[in-house]
Parts: sequence; C-alpha cells; structure tokens
Amino acid sequence: MQLIEVTIDSLAEVGYVGTTLAEIARRAGVSPGLVAHYFGEKDGLLEAAFRKLARAVAVNARKRLALARTPRARVQAIIDANLGPENFDKRTGIAWLAFWGQVLHVEGLRRVQTAYQRRMLSNLRSDLRRMIPGEAARSLAAMIAAMIDGVWLRAALSEWQEADSESAQGLLTAFVEGRLRELTRPQPADGLELASGRVGARTAPARDSVRVINPATGEELALLAVDGPAQVDAAVARARLAQQAWAAKTGAERGRVLQRAAGLLRERNDELAELETRNTGKPIQETRAVDVVSGAECIEYYAGMAAGLAGEHLDLGPKAFGYTRREPLGVVAGIGAWNYPLQIACWKSAPALACGNAMIFKPAELTPLTAVKLAEIYREAGLPDGVFQVVQGYAQTGQLLSRHAGIRKISLTGEVSTGKAVMTDAAASLKQVTLELGGKSPLIVFGDAHLENAVSGALLGNFYSAGEVCSNGTRVFVHRSVRVEFIERLRTRIAAMHIGDPLDPRTQVGALISAEHMQKVLGLIARGRAQGARLVIGGGRVTTGALGRGCFVAPTVFDACHDDMDIVRQEIFGPVMSVLEFDGEEEVIARANATEFGLAAGVFTNDLTRAHRVIAQLEAGTCWINHYNITPIELPFGGVKMSGLGRENGRAALEHYTQLKSVYVAMADIEAPY
Ligand code: NDP
Repeated sequence: MQLIEVTIDSLAEVGYVGTTLAEIARRAGVSPGLVAHYFGEKDGLLEAAFRKLARAVAVNARKRLALARTPRARVQAIIDANLGPENFDKRTGIAWLAFWGQVLHVEGLRRVQTAYQRRMLSNLRSDLRRMIPGEAARSLAAMIAAMIDGVWLRAALSEWQEADSESAQGLLTAFVEGRLRELTRPQPADGLELASGRVGARTAPARDSVRVINPATGEELALLAVDGPAQVDAAVARARLAQQAWAAKTGAERGRVLQRAAGLLRERNDELAELETRNTGKPIQETRAVDVVSGAECIEYYAGMAAGLAGEHLDLGPKAFGYTRREPLGVVAGIGAWNYPLQIACWKSAPALACGNAMIFKPAELTPLTAVKLAEIYREAGLPDGVFQVVQGYAQTGQLLSRHAGIRKISLTGEVSTGKAVMTDAAASLKQVTLELGGKSPLIVFGDAHLENAVSGALLGNFYSAGEVCSNGTRVFVHRSVRVEFIERLRTRIAAMHIGDPLDPRTQVGALISAEHMQKVLGLIARGRAQGARLVIGGGRVTTGALGRGCFVAPTVFDACHDDMDIVRQEIFGPVMSVLEFDGEEEVIARANATEFGLAAGVFTNDLTRAHRVIAQLEAGTCWINHYNITPIELPFGGVKMSGLGRENGRAALEHYTQLKSVYVAMADIEAPY
C-alpha cells in the first residue's frame, strides 16, 4: 500500500518518465529488488496505482449513491464523486493525467480506464433514462463524462488555477440542470413558426409553452401557453380599440385609475413579493422592500403627472399663434428582462398609460408571473379591458411585437444584442425605441472618501439581487492609498452576509435566476482566476444543505484586477466584484470610460469640486455621488453608448410615450399672391 502511495507522489512530482522502479524504491526507502519482487515491471506498479485511484472514485460514488433518493440526485452523486474535494486535488489530478497519457500504450492501464469509464457511463445512463428519453440519456451521459474529463484536464493543465472542486462541481451541475430543463421542455408545436420568412433570425427554437421554475429549489411554479402570431394580432386589435377610449379620458381620470392601481399594489405587497421571490430567487427582504414598492411609486408618480401633460403656447404676433399638443403614440409594447420583473412592467406601463397609450407587455420567459398579477390589478383599479395586456413567450413573441406594424413604440429592457435585434426589427415600421441595456459600470473611490460609505456603496452596487442589476458598479477603482483597507473592510462585511433560502427574511443573498446563468457566472469566475486576479472572498457555488438544489453563488471579490481581464470587460450579471487600483484622477477617468457600455457610474469622495468635475467627464447615463444604485422615480434612468437609448422615469419618460402635434392658428385674413 505504501509503495502505491509513493508511486502516486512520484507521478505527481516527477511525472511518468521520472517514475522509475529505482525512484520509487528510493522514496520508499526500500531496495529496487523488493519493489520488483512485488510488482514485476514498472507497469505493474503503475497499474496498481491507477487501480487505487479509480477505486477511490468508485468507493466515493457508492457512498454518495447510497444516500441519493432520486435519479437526479444519483446523477449528482456521480458528478460529486468525481469532482469532490477528496479526489479533485493537484496530486491526484497530475497522477491521473500521467496515466491518461499512457492508456493507449499500456494494456493494463487501458483495462483500468475502460472499466472506470464503463461504470460511470452505465450509472449515468440508467439514472438519466428515468428522466429523459433513451437516446437523449445516452448522449447526455456521454457529455457529462466528457465534461468531467475536460474539467480535470483543464484544471491539471492550469496548475489548479482554473477550477477548484467547488467551481468544477458548480459548472457540471449547472450544465446538467440546463440540459435537463431543455430536454424536459415541451417540444416545438406546429403553427408557431414566424410568418415573415425571417425565421433565421430567431434566437431560440419555437416552443408552445413556458415552464416556470423556482431557481432556488428547482420546483416548477407554472406552465404557460406561448402566444403566437394569432394571439399577438388579436391583442393589438383589442389594444387599438381600447386605446382610443382611454386617450379620450382626461388626464385626471387616467390618473385616478393609476392611483388606485398603486394602492392595490401596496395592499398586496407581501403576496406579490413572495411570488417574485419564488420566481426570481431574490431574497424576500428585498422584494418586500423594493420590487413592489418601487413599482407602486412609479405608478403614483405618473398618476400625478397625467393631469399635467401639456403642450406649449407660442406667440406668433398679432395675426397668429401656435400651440403644441402632446398626444399619445397609440399602441406601444414593453419587453422585460428577468431581474426585476414587476418593477420593469410598472416602469414601462405607468408612463405609457398616463400618456393615454395602450400597452402590450411581454415579460421574460423566465419570470412571467407578476406581470399577469399587474394586469389583474390594473383591471381591478378600473383600467378598461385591452389597455394593458400581457403576452407570454420566448424571443419569437418579442419579435412579433417589435415587427408589428400596428405597434408604434417598443421599450425593451435586456441585453445589448437583444437591443440591436429589436431596433433592427422596429426599423421596418419606423417604431420608436427605448432601450435599457447592459452595463459594466465604474465605481470610483478616491483616497479622501468616507471609506465605510464607499464599502456600503460597493456592496449595494455588486451584491443586491445577487448582482443581477444592470447598473451595478462592478469595476471598483480604488485609490492606491486606501485599497488595502478597503479590501479588508469589504472582506469583513461580506463574510457576515447571510446566503440562504430566499423566503427566509434573514437571507441577504438568494439564488441566481437559472442554472444556465449560474454556469455563465461560474465560468467567468474561473476565467478571473485563470487570468491572474486574486480571489479575496467567495469564488464558487454554495451547496450547503438544501441550497444544493438551487443556483446559489457566494458573493465574490477579486483584487489585483487589470483592465483587460474578462471579468473586468464583460457584464457578468452575478455577484462578482473586480477591484482595480488607480493613482490619478485623469488616469481613472480614462480607464472608467474605456468600455463600450455607458449605463451608470459612481464616485466616492469628500472633495465636492472633484466629485462634480469627475462626474461631468464620465460617459454614463446615470451617476451617483457618494451613493450607489439608488433610483428614485423622479430621476430619469438610462444609458449612453451601448447601454441604451432613451430614458425611463422622471419627466423624460413622458417624451418617449408621446408625440408632438404643432398647430398654427390664424387670427386674420389670409394674404395670398394669387
Ligand atoms: P434578454 O435580452 O435576453 O431578454 C430581454 C427580453 O427580450 C426578454 O423578454 C426576451 O424574451 C426578449 N427577447 C429576446 N430576444 C428578442 C428578440 N430578438 N426580439 C424581441 N424580444 C426579444 O435579457 P435578459 O432577460 O437576459 O436580462 C438581462 C439583461 O438585461 C442584462 O444584460 C442586463 O444588463 C439588462 N438589463 C438592463 C436594465 C436597464 O435598465 N438598463 C435593467 C435590467 C436588466 P425571453 O426572455 O423570452 O427570451
């Protein structure tokens, strides 16, 4: 036994070629003759060592399988057995790598490897078959096995920089969750293909229903029918009729309906917050305090504005005057993202309805539930039928809206690529567009800042809603003089954060929206490590107890980041903060602006002159001085550069939901030359 352990040590340290009988004997303190006596040639000893490693995984898998109660848990047991911390370490990994290099040339090693693979595949296949059809089970089992090997290989080749046991397990789990969800979804139905012939531009295959999942538990919450061309056409026709009557009401009348809706939202705050938490995985302490309330505040704000909508009077001398009328656009559409489903539906519908438009709203496929509740509430508040309607579906349903000739404006919250697609689609009917897109915003902490406030700002700007906030300040530039202290304070406060069941009022960090999204976030964390960022805290999935069923990722901070790292350039939309050090004001402004995005920016300093000077130079639509991520309805919100077009909230949004009519009024006879 001791000789086998020594062999594994030797393989890990000096590799296959250096592991000779003499070397093993030297390490074990015995004579080479004794080693040869027990194991014959070197290959015999290596085969025994390989068997030992493979057996360790098998024993581990057996133990875990004995505890697993469902087919899904058994699949997880196999993943965890292969990637668990007991096996997934540098010594074992390098030894495996050495063996794999020889498998094709040494018959004994090949036998061990074949048996190990066969066992893993047959276990996986038999459990997967209980969840998905046979052929799909076979191919998913092969994919899982390939990914396990791939993760080992990449980890070993990167000297264990690229992944640790936890993130490797996270990656595989997210992959399996994603594939299973995909494979258990209802298959495409006939008749949902787009009629326009531009089917090639679709971003996902047509499907006939939306399965709604709680990302904290994997539980199914609802199954909704997808709305296709017929339903969208019908909604537009209904909206067109309803809009005319709605626009004919006075602003004050419209305002009263909206006020009642805001009141109902407040009354139903807890019930709606719970639904939002179940669907998004966000902590109930957030959804109760923010999601519903900020929607209600927005509706109240525009309810108050509705009666005050007005054009201008223009004096054109004694013989004429002019005036402008601010008129509704007609039927408009809103398309929402999944991070603040109810809030987004309110932010879009409130100004639209206040101005006399009718709105058709499509929530994100992952979070379609609270928009339906909002429609109920509007109806109960007295909004005429057809003025606010919800259609459900995937990107194709969104496209039906952005391409519809009967819709005059589209307001999207989503990714940059979706913004471009929507704008392209809207061009054919010259629709107006408001685009609230992604960001990679800078948060700058100068040396004279109130450091504890700056830390609070950075925490709010990175970990609220598990980091799934478009305006997050994920590039945290900290002045060299305070960086070390800043990091220490961050670490202490993050270590005390409570990650847990989103429905538990103590929970401060809930689940990410889906397994696929978690996979993307974990992948970027792995890239951060591989590219040399220093992990301060977090860095992986949280799977303690029941959290293992959900998509939980620990709040993560990277220090020693550089401007060209992927984690610094790409929007992660998860709980990952990158800290970057800077020296001078001009330098930090240039670095903060060196991004295609321009959604938000923050500055922490006690030097007021500097605060305004710096903010004026930052290329961002929404900025904060000595705070971060606070969005009062009175302040317009939106981005510049690739982060979007137009504004939501504030008086500015009224301009995006109305069009001007200019009227010339003659007060004298006409002088005509003919
Ligand atoms: P997506 O862009 O993937 O989706 C947004 C919405 O657009 C969804 O309802 C989606 O439907 C729909 N959609 C997708 N493709 C098309 C298309 N071709 N035509 C019409 N509609 C389409 O964004 P996410 O839902 O993933 O949200 C995350 C993104 O939103 C992040 O980039 C984030 O920064 C951004 N965001 C921006 C905010 C802002 O105010 N600036 C606020 C919040 C988020 P389906 O979901 O069914 O595919």
